[in-house]
Amino acid sequence: MSKYHVNASTSKDDIHHIFWTLHAEYVSLGKIPIPITEICDKMNITINREQLQEEYDGNIKVDNDNFIITINTVKRSVQRQFFTLAHEIGHLLNDKNKLVEEKMICDRKDDYSNIEKTKRAEIIKMERLANIRAAEILMPEDVFTKYFIHKSYKYTKESIAKIFGVSVMAVSVRANELGLSIL
Ligand SMILES: [Zn+2]
Repeated sequence: MSKYHVNASTSKDDIHHIFWTLHAEYVSLGKIPIPITEICDKMNITINREQLQEEYDGNIKVDNDNFIITINTVKRSVQRQFFTLAHEIGHLLNDKNKLVEEKMICDRKDDYSNIEKTKRAEIIKMERLANIRAAEILMPEDVFTKYFIHKSYKYTKESIAKIFGVSVMAVSVRANELGLSIL
């Protein structure tokens, strides 16, 4: 078993440590877009791309102690699928204990109308934090910021989005978070 392998018994702290160590290695090698598939391979996290019902973006689950991520490919752009993959890793990093307890965290288009109010607020917060985590993973601060410093003569939001493999919207949100102005 590789020292990077994780499973349901791996502590949340160890999962963080392993993930961010691999992430930093790829960033230092200049691997942008971040090769999340390779990171998952090294961590022994399985990724399935499937045709799910349209309202589902994907899910992360525990099966025989191993983590499995499923991404819906139906009517989703490559960028959207890539973001969903990072979002599921976000759940693993943020919500590992809940995930192991409940065996699955499932993402579907926000329709929480039939969920009780307190529970709904909890889910909305968890989803927002998984998105923030996904943005941190896909647009590492140090690398991302550089494109804004040089933006005036070289880069547009569209070209930055292409470089990081994300949508223009994702670039805008991340730039806002980091206080980078978009000209
Ligand atoms: Zn989610």
